[in-house]
Amino acid sequence: MPMDDDFCDCAEHGPQPITFVCSHIVDRASPETAGFVSFPAEDGDDLRDAWCEACEAYLQENGGEWVEGAVEVPGGIRIICAECYRRREADARLAGRRIVRQE
Ligand SMILES: [Zn+2]
Ligand SMILES: [Zn+2]
Repeated sequence: MPMDDDFCDCAEHGPQPITFVCSHIVDRASPETAGFVSFPAEDGDDLRDAWCEACEAYLQENGGEWVEGAVEVPGGIRIICAECYRRREADARLAGRRIVRQE
């Protein structure tokens, strides 16, 4: 299967569509969630960029919005496979720490 810009080869899940999350969600060292914040999905398969609660607090202190190239999450944004994204989102939901921001 050829890899293009929209796919990654996850060590756990194989070839998967890519999504974007903050580095804290990717680097989660323990099963405990870092929280999971995103704007609402536009449809069922739409995995919006997501960030953790600490990054959300940072964005709130810096104008409240993520502005590409100006106000960005500390640590930057990283690629994660769609399946890893869904698992981290599910973990956060179970922990009551899934936050959907209204636009
Ligand atoms: Zn973060
Ligand atoms: Zn994965």
